Amino acid sequence: MNFYDSQKITTILESKGYQLQDSPDKADLVVFNTCNIRDKAAHKVYSDIGRVNKFDNKKTIAVVGCVAQAENSEMFKKNHAIDIVLGPQSYHLLPQMIKDLEKKSKLINTEFIVNEKFDYLSEQHRPQGISSFITIQEGCDKFCSFCVVPYTRGPEYSRSIEAISKEADLLTSKGAREIVLLGQNVNAYQDLSLNKVKRLNHLIENLSKNENIKRIRYTTSHPINMNKELIDCHADSSKLMPFLHLPVQSGSSTILRKMNRKYDSNFYKEIIYKLKKAKPSIQISSDFIVGYPGETDKDFQDTLDLVDEMKFTQSYSFIYSSRPGTKAASESDVTPLHIKKERLKILQEKLRNIQLKFNKGFCNKNIEVLIENKSASNPEYFFGRTPYMQSVYIKSSNLKDGDIKNVSISTCNHKSLYGSC
Ligand code: SAH
Ligand code: SF4
Repeated sequence: MNFYDSQKITTILESKGYQLQDSPDKADLVVFNTCNIRDKAAHKVYSDIGRVNKFDNKKTIAVVGCVAQAENSEMFKKNHAIDIVLGPQSYHLLPQMIKDLEKKSKLINTEFIVNEKFDYLSEQHRPQGISSFITIQEGCDKFCSFCVVPYTRGPEYSRSIEAISKEADLLTSKGAREIVLLGQNVNAYQDLSLNKVKRLNHLIENLSKNENIKRIRYTTSHPINMNKELIDCHADSSKLMPFLHLPVQSGSSTILRKMNRKYDSNFYKEIIYKLKKAKPSIQISSDFIVGYPGETDKDFQDTLDLVDEMKFTQSYSFIYSSRPGTKAASESDVTPLHIKKERLKILQEKLRNIQLKFNKGFCNKNIEVLIENKSASNPEYFFGRTPYMQSVYIKSSNLKDGDIKNVSISTCNHKSLYGSC
């Protein structure tokens, strides 16, 4: 979502006469779009500001996004070079704030004016490429005990099907062939602008009518919002890809309760089995938090057992990071860091082995790949993705971006497939 937001911010500024530079050294204005989800990401902005400001103290520095929202005016005290602090739901105000710097030296806005932001941004489009993002939903009402999102992005908000379809039309007219629908809780999507509530399955059906859209994906989903209609949509829609990112966080029902995830491990498994029944080819990826306060060896073993049973084909895993203001931050956390690191290593190795085995299953076989671009690192190769989100590097001189090709896979590693056509 930050990538999408950064694109939007760039377009807004370009429409006011700014030019994007390929290096911060050349820029008069540097905008840092920040993530506050883990401690490390939040700290990064201060060292990054120091780096761009090393040679020249005259740049205008704006910090936008979730760190700006969470740390607010404290940011000015922590780093005097910052001129503007702007939350993720009001970044359409950036051009006006830059202007206002002529009259006032430090400016801040951390209001949740998400509907105003989207009204403004509906007009701002920047071609993103063959696979393009559209934010359809933002914010969160779920308040998992470890997470800052409800505080930094605010309550759940969905855009209308009409506005999203218009953005999809524009993106496809500029070459997009795959649309990735984004939201912090994307499957909680609901368009309330019509007489009858329309949900994510309706939006997918609507977008499927656009002939230029070949593939549709959505991320990130919460297990409790995987309703029957959405599960059925995986069976019914030929454009919806057979791959779903459905974060579980832990395999232990005790930890899930402490996390306030609102489901237990059996509920999660049932959802996956229903999805597999509706769409037998579907593959699942997940997020895991290791070392949540009070996680025992047994709880961790439950996570490993869940991974063995579910065979996630891609995943993200993190050590729990205590976030100020969240409920979990006040819980006693006695597990030493070296144990948490060891658990993360064991989990990641297991996930990597499953992913490698899955990828190896494609060797000496053909798979449909949406060609996205020429590989940046090696011009003899094109880059594309399978329906299951695997990266594929294809040796060929005559492919066209946007084509869907049957690629013969010869070799792989846990991250990518390699082939020709
Ligand atoms: N809404 C999605 C997740 C959005 S946050 C969901 O509920 O599944 C993206 C991921 O960051 C989460 O899935 C979680 O694994 C990770 N994350 C969030 N807060 C974290 C924290 N305090 N420490 C470590 N990882 C965290
Ligand atoms: Fe954070 Fe996702 Fe939980 Fe919302 S549902 S609080 S975004 S982890």
